[in-house]
This record gives sequence, structure tokens and C-alpha cells, in this order.
Amino acid sequence: DLKGQVAVISGSTSGIGLALARAVASRGGDVVLNGLGDPAEIERTRSGMEAAYGVKVRYHAADMRNGSEVADMVAFAKHDLGRLDILVNNAGVQHVESIDKFPADKWEQIIAINLSSAFYATRAAVPIMKAQGRGRIINVASAHGLVASPYKSAYVAAKHGVIGLTKTVALELAEQNITCNAICPGFVETPIVEKQIADQARTRGIPREKVLAEVILKSQPTRRFVTTDELAGIFLYLVSDLGASANGASFSIDGGWTAQ
Ligand code: NAD
Repeated sequence: DLKGQVAVISGSTSGIGLALARAVASRGGDVVLNGLGDPAEIERTRSGMEAAYGVKVRYHAADMRNGSEVADMVAFAKHDLGRLDILVNNAGVQHVESIDKFPADKWEQIIAINLSSAFYATRAAVPIMKAQGRGRIINVASAHGLVASPYKSAYVAAKHGVIGLTKTVALELAEQNITCNAICPGFVETPIVEKQIADQARTRGIPREKVLAEVILKSQPTRRFVTTDELAGIFLYLVSDLGASANGASFSIDGGWTAQ
């Protein structure tokens, strides 16, 4: 039960972030949504969640490339919803290209959105959580926070960085009842992956099913996508009181990918 708790979830207008936002709201918690998208569609999602779950759902448009906007989003939760109990650093983007051709602007963008935004949000959230005497910080990293794949240099570097940040924050706050953990999903069927499937199909000249079998799910021993419900499961454990001793850890929810 998350009644009375407030969660801020970056990149929650689609995919994993939206699923975690629904997990919070369906258990009675209030939520600040964030992310890109069509304003009318975002408003439908926001008001739809309020109606479905009877909680407060706000939207903050912070661009995760901008540290001060990220900090504003965290302050907005406290100001508008009165507290901040759960911070989920989830926003992320991908770009697939060989290292010698990797565009510098893509590198900067991925480091900013996938790594630095977690620093800015955590820095802003910690004083609020300290004052409240409890906090839960969840970083959505990736199997690529633990192992690499070719052509994903910026993403792999950023996700490894997120795991380093997770460990450091955990150590600094361990005595203050604030935990910080990383969830490391394997492939989940969301827009970020749909784009990769389409790109791979185009560049390799093979159909979608072949891309799934021979490229995407090749590294995932279960040969199926991880579901957002399966990620909500570990997330709800980590934010609960039972999760109090899980700290600075990386939880692989990847169908066995990183066991190989
Ligand atoms: P997604 O594309 O559905 O969601 C990404 C979210 O980030 C969206 O809400 C998007 O609007 C937001 N976002 C992107 N740029 C932003 C910016 N500049 N400012 C604010 N928001 C921005 O993809 P997803 O799969 O749900 O990804 C969520 C997280 O999960 C990412 O960090 C991703 O790296 C990670 N992840 C995904 C998979 C997977 O297979 N889908 C696997 C491992 C890790």
C-alpha cells in the first residue's frame, strides 16, 4: 500500500516509466509524470490515471537534458503534492552506431538523459527525503549497465555510470533510511526497442520476426521480452518496507541474459 506516498518518475509518458507510475497509482500513491509526447495524449494519460485510481497525478515537462529543469521537477513534487517518497530515474534514449562514427551530439545527449539527470534528480531529492526520515531511489539501468553490446557505446557507458552512482548514493545515505538501487531489465517491448527492431530490419534487410529471433532476443535466454509487470514486481518490493536492506544493489530482470 503506497497511500500517502508521492513518487516522481522521469520518462513516464510511455513504456517502463508509465508502467511503474501505474503500479504506484494503483496502490494509492500520488505521482508526478514526466516525459516527452503529444500534450493532449499526456493529459489523457494523466487524467485517466486520476480517475482510475483516485489519486493525484501531476505532469512536469522537465527536459532531462537540463539539470535545473530536473531539479525543478523534484521541487514541484514537494511543493504541489507535499512530499517526496520515491524517486525513479527512468528516462532514457538510445543510439546505435560504431564508435568511430558515433555522433558527438548523440553521446552528449545520452550521457545527459540516461546518467546526469539521475544525478540532478537525486541531488534535489535527498534533502527532502532526509527531512522526512525515509526515501527510496530506484534507477532504471539496464543489462547494459552490467555487460556491453557492440555499437551502443554511449548507452553502455551511461548505464554503467548509473550503477556506480547507485552504489555511491546508497553508501552515503545508508544510515538515513534512504535506499538507492538499480533495476537492470533485459529487452522489454517498448517504443525504444520497437525503434531498434525497425532500424535493424531496415539495415539488415530482414523481416521483424527474424530480427527478434536472430538479433534482439538472441541474448535473452528465455527468448521472450521481459514484461513491465515483471519490472513492477521488483520495483514494488524495493519501495516497500521489506526492501529496506536492499541497498546499492543491481537487480537483473533479464531472463538470464547476464548469467551467460
Ligand atoms: P520509452 O522510449 O518507452 O521511454 C522513455 C521515456 O523517456 C519516455 O517517456 C520519453 O518521453 C522519456 N524521455 C526521453 N527523452 C527525454 C527528455 N529529454 N526529457 C524527458 N523525458 C525524456 O522506453 P523504455 O523502454 O520505457 O525506457 C525506459 C528506461 O528503461 C530507459 O532508461 C531505458 O534505457 C531503460 N531500459 C529499457 C529496456 C527495454 O528493452 N525497453 C531495457 C533496459 C533498460
